[in-house]
Amino acid sequence: MTTAPDINGILSEWGQPAYRAQQVAQAKMRGAAEWEDVTTLGKELRGRLTDTRPLWSFITEKRLRSTDGTLKWRLRARDGQRFEMVLIAHAEGRRTLCVSSQAGCSLGCTFCATGQLGPGRNLYPEEILDQALLAAAEAEEDGARLTNVVFMGMGEPMHNLDAVLEACGGMHDPSLLGLSARRLAISTAGWVPGIAALAEHPLPVRLAISLHAADDETRSKLMPINNRYPIANLMGACRRYCDTTGRRIFIEYLLLDRVNDSPEQAKRLASVIRDGRFHVNIIEYNPTSGPHRGSSSERRERFILALSRAGIEASVRRSRGADIDAACGQLALATP
Ligand code: SAH
Ligand code: SF4
Repeated sequence: MTTAPDINGILSEWGQPAYRAQQVAQAKMRGAAEWEDVTTLGKELRGRLTDTRPLWSFITEKRLRSTDGTLKWRLRARDGQRFEMVLIAHAEGRRTLCVSSQAGCSLGCTFCATGQLGPGRNLYPEEILDQALLAAAEAEEDGARLTNVVFMGMGEPMHNLDAVLEACGGMHDPSLLGLSARRLAISTAGWVPGIAALAEHPLPVRLAISLHAADDETRSKLMPINNRYPIANLMGACRRYCDTTGRRIFIEYLLLDRVNDSPEQAKRLASVIRDGRFHVNIIEYNPTSGPHRGSSSERRERFILALSRAGIEASVRRSRGADIDAACGQLALATP
């Protein structure tokens, strides 16, 4: 049994044409569970692959369904590493996959369950793409469609950017998932070199920045990465990204009770992003075992009003799948 992680590599080592790997991925997104189900490959090749490694790069340890239709999978890679993925159901049969890029996270944000879990290894491109193929198969079985993929599961995608972008290539490939680049979003806690690298990449995926505070003192308490890349530095990288690409950036702002939710902090946020091409998403806090509480709806409304008075309109992103700990920041493998 080889430990080579990558099926594309195995097939090309065996002198198989490049389209074989595509046939494999196509079969997976139509629900193939094992090599025998990949009927586009000859019987002999299927047998050889069966003796070499499993079809999928991970197995499903657990699959949970929330009362709002959100699904969460706990997955185990072939080396035993665990990670999770979440599929969110929207109206009109649309589905958004929240994909993991690492089996943990080293950045230690105080409000995030993955951060509390600590570091885990980078996922391979195949392990990332397989999450999307599994989600596509699941959506199809439900009579729905996978329409969006967001890198908001476990891990910091900028710490594994090459693998993330390679997997995005597969998601974008018209013969596979065929998702346009604006349906793919990478979210970062603010890893500045990654923002610059993404600006140079030919695939115009969307970029979201988890800002969560607009002053360095508050942000450094919440997100230790701010000590390395403070707000001025981060916003400079964002502006350069907008100038280079002509695209706008999504700013994620999680409202934490009396930590970052005062009207003064809203004004500060407005001033930090005033002269850029940004769109603000206000996120509701999903409880973790950390020290925080979410803002009340009154404090949230006051924050949004103060933002709006300062000339910035924001969208509010409501929590989904919270009853099965499938919401943003709750992915930590411990529950239920
Ligand atoms: N590491 C990347 C992407 C994964 S986290 C990042 O930090 O952007 C995905 C999103 O979930 C981020 O915006 C993150 O700030 C947010 N998040 C983390 N913990 C949360 C929580 N408890 N409630 C709501 N959102 C949370
Ligand atoms: Fe890591 Fe993102 Fe969680 Fe921070 S919010 S600990 S960067 S996964």
